[in-house]
Amino acid sequence: MDYKNFWLSILRRLEPTISRSQFLTWFQNTAALTIENETLVVGAPTNFAREWITRKYALKILQAAEEENSKIKEVEFEVDAALEDGIDPRTIDLRAVFAKPGDKKIYKARGREEVVLTRSGILSAKLNPRYTLANFVPGDENRLAHAAALSVSRTPGLTYNPLVIYGGVGLGKTHLLSAIGHEVLTNDPNKIVAFTTSEIFTREFVLASKKFKADEFKKKFRDIDILLFDDVQFLENREKTQTELFNIFNDLHQKGKQLVFTSDRPPSELTELMDRLRSRLTWGLVCEIEQPSFHSRLEILKNKTRERRVILDPELLEFIAMNVTNSVRELESALAWTTAQTDLLRTQPTIRELGRMLEKINKKERMLGLPESAPEISIRTPAEIIELVSKHFNLPVTEICGVSRKKEFRTARQIAMFLSREILGCGLAEIAKNFNRDHSTVLHSCRRISAELQKNEALIRHVNAVKKEMGL
Ligand code: ADP
Ligand code: MG
Repeated sequence: MDYKNFWLSILRRLEPTISRSQFLTWFQNTAALTIENETLVVGAPTNFAREWITRKYALKILQAAEEENSKIKEVEFEVDAALEDGIDPRTIDLRAVFAKPGDKKIYKARGREEVVLTRSGILSAKLNPRYTLANFVPGDENRLAHAAALSVSRTPGLTYNPLVIYGGVGLGKTHLLSAIGHEVLTNDPNKIVAFTTSEIFTREFVLASKKFKADEFKKKFRDIDILLFDDVQFLENREKTQTELFNIFNDLHQKGKQLVFTSDRPPSELTELMDRLRSRLTWGLVCEIEQPSFHSRLEILKNKTRERRVILDPELLEFIAMNVTNSVRELESALAWTTAQTDLLRTQPTIRELGRMLEKINKKERMLGLPESAPEISIRTPAEIIELVSKHFNLPVTEICGVSRKKEFRTARQIAMFLSREILGCGLAEIAKNFNRDHSTVLHSCRRISAELQKNEALIRHVNAVKKEMGL
């Protein structure tokens, strides 16, 4: 059974029913892994994605799957880390397959655009336009790799050749590799940069061999200036392909052309690679990217929020940085999750709320930095919220419900109205009565706070502080 096509037909059914940004955020890098008995197993790249998809879309997916294949009675969701990179052959490039005429700009700015890097159009895998040096946050864990990447992009072929960057999943290897490509092309647009991966390289080589065009395949590499080769570990046990790479390596290296490789292990541990190729990988500089420290994780989060133009309470960012430690990819996912929650709840989650979510997703016993257990408070009426807001801002209740249009009173008043509506779910009429206003004023106030929460950091903090007081 062709699972990829099957998944595509399911996605085609889902796509019109889901907002575009949600669709792209959560279904990029997903795949149908298998069908066992009556169960479709769907793979997601991270815990966060799996959790979100399960919660929000499980039913839709099941319905679509049943319509495609009536034998299917259940859907299960699994995390498959191999899907993370977006180049796994089981995944579908949603931005390409589900391209929309209006997409172009967004697609250019943040998508994975197919960049044709080479004059002859060879081997041009995707260089993600987001993966630039400017977007890469340096830290102790990647200091050497970052410096080497800079040096190699300034003077390709002259310093470290080959450069090998290794480290665990989701730590920034592909990002740095692509950044070298962008940087080289910025410095000299005439350079020919080839970006490839073990998968693509193997596929193209096998295809060329089948058609008796192995020579043409070789020839393609003759003219390039820089070879960027991602995830070389996947060449293990593929002897013919290794030999091919070995020859290309020799040819390019001899001509003083730059080679850069990434790997999940140091070359010495790539035991299933042929000796002569393995030894060549150690000719230049080998450097490791390690797990990011707390400080770097926080910096990366700040960077990503700036890049994506979202504003989150700094406390939330610290909390994420403290608790999501495995990889930068997981950090990004946690951030996407938090932003999505923010859209859904119309206010930002408090630390406690976020903690509860992360606990579930990470299956951790206890999160770090969680406030002591929630105080036993039950707030049920607008009057009680007015009381809390009055305490928080240190303003008299009479002013909050009074007529003054002074800014500080008005803001406190509007926050109290907003929370009465969003958290308590009170009706406009009831709220209006408590504040001695009419309901169009209440509606206007709630809308204003809602809009401000998208951009006003101070306001976000006030609202969250009051929510915290409410035991949330
Ligand atoms: P790897 O190839 O090592 O598995 P990636 O390069 O794909 O990891 O990185 C995973 C995600 O984390 C990417 O979205 C990347 O932009 C981001 N990332 C990793 N390291 C950094 C960093 N130091 N600064 C900014 N973003 C990073
Ligand atoms: Mg990678």
